Amino acid sequence: MSLRVYDSAARSVVPFEPAHPSRVSMYVCGPTVYGLVHIGNARTFLWFDLIRRYLTYRGFEVTFVMNYTDVDDKIIERARQEDVDEETLAHRYSEAFEGDMKALGVGAPDILARATEHIPDMVAAVEGLVEQGFAYEADGNVFFAVERFDGYGRLSGRSLEDMRAGQRVEPHPAKQHPLDFALWKAAKEGEPSWSSPWGPGRPGWHIECSVMSIRYLGMGFDLHGGGSDLIFPHHENELAQAEALTGEAPFVRHWLHSGMVQMQSEKMSKSLGNIVTARQALDRFDGEVVRMWALSGSYRTQVVFSEQALRDAAAAYDRWKTFHESCAHLLGSVAAQSEAQDSYRDRFIAAMDDDFNSSVAVAVIHDLVREGNGRLGAVERGDSAEHGRLEVLAGTFIELTSVLGFAFAPQVVSDELAGSLIDYLLELREQARAEREFERADEIRKRLGSMGVVIEDTPSGARWRLASPTG
Ligand SMILES: [Zn+2]
Repeated sequence: MSLRVYDSAARSVVPFEPAHPSRVSMYVCGPTVYGLVHIGNARTFLWFDLIRRYLTYRGFEVTFVMNYTDVDDKIIERARQEDVDEETLAHRYSEAFEGDMKALGVGAPDILARATEHIPDMVAAVEGLVEQGFAYEADGNVFFAVERFDGYGRLSGRSLEDMRAGQRVEPHPAKQHPLDFALWKAAKEGEPSWSSPWGPGRPGWHIECSVMSIRYLGMGFDLHGGGSDLIFPHHENELAQAEALTGEAPFVRHWLHSGMVQMQSEKMSKSLGNIVTARQALDRFDGEVVRMWALSGSYRTQVVFSEQALRDAAAAYDRWKTFHESCAHLLGSVAAQSEAQDSYRDRFIAAMDDDFNSSVAVAVIHDLVREGNGRLGAVERGDSAEHGRLEVLAGTFIELTSVLGFAFAPQVVSDELAGSLIDYLLELREQARAEREFERADEIRKRLGSMGVVIEDTPSGARWRLASPTG
């Protein structure tokens, strides 16, 4: 079986078909860097990190582009509140975002595109849309004319009439249709602005993603991701702008959207308080636990953020950690052994190929751990026949958990670090001798000797060398 994904544009599960059979180009809408990232958004980024890891595991060469929206109404407002300029504010919160992502084990994108570094490209795109009659200028603003783009509403599956009925915002008086959206906003007093053919101003939010995704990945890139709250209007508008501007289709081959997080505010216990940001969750729980929670439901489903859900995730993560520690203790360092056949791997891949069904994939690893714990007990009781099977299970465990972004793989100690540690032990031995603690000094020499490190006392002090393998 091959990978199948729920494509929001098709509104069904379809075979994943990138333009090139072994490469995937993906774009995910990044944060507006005006505050700490909400736990719901953090889950979206955790999920697209997982999707990227899984695609890589399945042999695709992935190029992952994400943007930072660093010019926006919310940024301008927050900069005033914090009494700094917009650039300082955006820098402050993009660093905070990166810290949170690191704690959650989310990898950095291959290309990070900041809106403010692509303004000339955006101005050129808006000019192109005006020239082709898809956009019009009014008082220094430029609006996209939704009625002139055939198929506006295709992605979200709504007609213009439906959307007009759902319109809550008071339309700008210069708009020809209430759903027309800003491509360019005329500068207001004291706001950051750039020069343009329509006077000083700044880009509307949607244009940045069309421009930057096409710039780095080209039209018809493979996967566009984001939270399901972005389908309308943001992604609908991205699609309209990109296809209108280039005259090509499709803008994107597959649209993937992650579900929202439901905050269990009514029942939220006192100890959890009112956690809303990823930072607050990370203050209470390890990044691995938050990751486990994020994977407990599949990406499209709505998950509940509650004290109990996080405690369940912590218990599940503990089972894995204990299994890994016991294996490492018994078997020495455990490494992934991808050559060994294992039905757990087959079941894991079948689950993940089914629109990234992580709840089943996690259950498969729990099954593996259950069998592994049984074999562990047998090996501990001296049944050496179970040793080989346990090694395979431990190796598969490392492999599959690392696809999910958990770092159980052994940390490699460099020769340099090992050397400094031995030097330090030699120093401790010297100290012991100076304090006439000869027993302790001798114990250090013996322990190092049992690890194959030979100590030689010379007139200029102690030296060490590795014993030759034959003794
Ligand atoms: Zn976007």
